Amino acid sequence: MNREASQKAFEEAQELIPGGVDSPVRAFKSVGGTPIFITEGEGGYLKDIDGNKYVDYVQSWGPLLFGHRDETIEAAVIDAVKHGLSFGAPTLAESELAKLVIDFFDSVEKVRFVSSGTEAVMSAIRLARGFIGRDDIVKFTGCYHGHSDALLVEAGSGAATFGNPSSPGVPADFTKHTLLAEYNNIESVKKCFADSDNIACIIIEPIAGNMGLVPADKEFLHELRELCDANGALLIFDEVMSGFRGSLRGAESITGVTPDLVTLGKVIGGGMPVGAFGGRREIMDKLSPEGPVYQAGTLSGNPVAMAAGHAALTKLKQNGRLIDVLNSRAVRLVEGMQDAAREEGIAMQVDTRGSMFGFFFSDKVVKNFSDAAASDADIFAQFHAGMLDEGFYFACSLYETGFISTATTDMMIEDTIEASKRVFKAIK
Ligand code: PLP
Repeated sequence: MNREASQKAFEEAQELIPGGVDSPVRAFKSVGGTPIFITEGEGGYLKDIDGNKYVDYVQSWGPLLFGHRDETIEAAVIDAVKHGLSFGAPTLAESELAKLVIDFFDSVEKVRFVSSGTEAVMSAIRLARGFIGRDDIVKFTGCYHGHSDALLVEAGSGAATFGNPSSPGVPADFTKHTLLAEYNNIESVKKCFADSDNIACIIIEPIAGNMGLVPADKEFLHELRELCDANGALLIFDEVMSGFRGSLRGAESITGVTPDLVTLGKVIGGGMPVGAFGGRREIMDKLSPEGPVYQAGTLSGNPVAMAAGHAALTKLKQNGRLIDVLNSRAVRLVEGMQDAAREEGIAMQVDTRGSMFGFFFSDKVVKNFSDAAASDADIFAQFHAGMLDEGFYFACSLYETGFISTATTDMMIEDTIEASKRVFKAIK
């Protein structure tokens, strides 16, 4: 497959933009090769500047539940744009999207919109600390909660991809209140509570998607809830990625564990930049201007983003079975690829949650970041390059998750499985 134009564009971009990209994982560093430069998306496909077409399993890293250029979302955005791009004053669109989010999430009585998942989590943590009146937080190795200082500690996603989970530029003082525990290991969380009586909250991706796809055990989440209750701490579910992807009504609906705060992003912006955090009224009302915990944003609740998000969530509301339909496609995809790998003697672990899918080249079930890191990165890189040459765009890091959209057809999935047979055969 000819990708000369992308190669040239990447060389030029590297002169202008650090690493040639505006978010590190896009640079293909961990798998090698050149990132493709995109001209447009259409349904389940991406097109690059060389004229190549790819089935897209990245979906902008999650937001595009309805694929590229969904007609309803596009029309809502165009209509909103015609009324003005930003006002910095309240609009009805904010309350309309808030109603939808509150409707979907039982634990959310009030919600505030921001412009990214990073902001959502950063603000939720501040709120939890302000509400409880303590400083320490517990996070899990391999979970990624955006790039704010206090959370860039043994994070997954791009931070893990480069083997440099904590970043220079983050003073040790800023992370000294971040306690680390191991995902799916309750003893490690108990140790945090034994070591500190200053814990304000636990934050967790209940369906982790930033060390590959690694869902938390239901029992583990129940135990986290009990530990929080016993110690007067809050439980925050970071569902920036898994919200409206892992299930229709949040991880709380499939695990029976109710968080105190939930953070959202990606799907709730329909492809526009959005984040949100919400929870019980008594906690949310501690936010400025109602309460003392300060949080703000020039473009927060942006009307174009609200319109896109509203269109996306309305579509979901109209078809509650959608997540199950997408899940059956995701299952077919990963099981088909797993069979193909097995034929070639390659061990592959696969899993799905709703429209999210993940796989590791490993003979061991992956429960935490160490397990994920022990999977075969070299086979992953060969798989990624081979599939790209076949016209299938997968996330370019083994610490990421794949996504199915409503535009990912059964035919695309069968084609992917067929292509994977050729790719696995060629793996050395
Ligand atoms: N939290 C989770 C679980 C995420 O997956 C991400 C991004 O991938 C974030 C937070 C940060 O969101 P954003 O990239 O919009 O700042």
